[in-house]
Amino acid sequence: MTAPIKQPLNIVLIGPPGAGKSTIAEALVRERQLVSISTGQRLRAEIKAHSLIGRAVAPYLDKGELAPDSLMDRLLRASLETLDPEQGFLLDGYPRTLHQARGFDGTLADYGRMLHAVLALEVADDEAIRRLSGRRICEGAGEPFPVHIDDLASMLRCQERGGRLVERDDDQPNVVRQRVIVYHEQTRPLLDFYESAGLLRHINAHGAPAEVARRALAALPAVQA
Ligand code: AMP
Repeated sequence: MTAPIKQPLNIVLIGPPGAGKSTIAEALVRERQLVSISTGQRLRAEIKAHSLIGRAVAPYLDKGELAPDSLMDRLLRASLETLDPEQGFLLDGYPRTLHQARGFDGTLADYGRMLHAVLALEVADDEAIRRLSGRRICEGAGEPFPVHIDDLASMLRCQERGGRLVERDDDQPNVVRQRVIVYHEQTRPLLDFYESAGLLRHINAHGAPAEVARRALAALPAVQA
């Protein structure tokens, strides 16, 4: 049996759009007291705030393309800079290209951290597209949360809380297709990269979110309290 890892636990979550990354990230963060760093969420916040970064990246997100590596590397460094060294992180959405993955090794070394595992959520393309085309975000009722138009219970939860359903611009069908293509071309090669590093753990992302979260939790390395 391998010895438990000393905290803090640092984890990367990779998956195609529609694999449920943010939902699973939420569960892992809650159960293992990790800090969530979601690059997609940060970019959307910048766009909403009409900041310089937001205006620079909006055209990429609108088309389902990836934002430039140099900008993402800086954004990641800024996130690690403000992170309490005692706290572990769950990185949702970075790295997404081989260039980012190679740079990330150096960034981790600069902050005296190591990566403990890379969880790869795996879901078939047609299921990913089905999930995204029916996804809406429930806004205006506390922390925004995703719902699916086929999931009556989640739609009702939003309605009862007085929220409104908003469709993400990049969940439009043509943008979704492009995001899936970009995942296969630019992000999927990371699986081999992290497999070679002995860090990859495959997670079947089909089924109910709670079940997928259980599988992901079970795949996390043990940590020393
Ligand atoms: P997500 O919420 O993770 O699906 O990210 C939404 C969008 O943000 C992606 O489709 C990309 O355009 C952009 N994005 C997020 N993370 C990265 C990254 N690490 N590199 C490049 N673009 C990213």
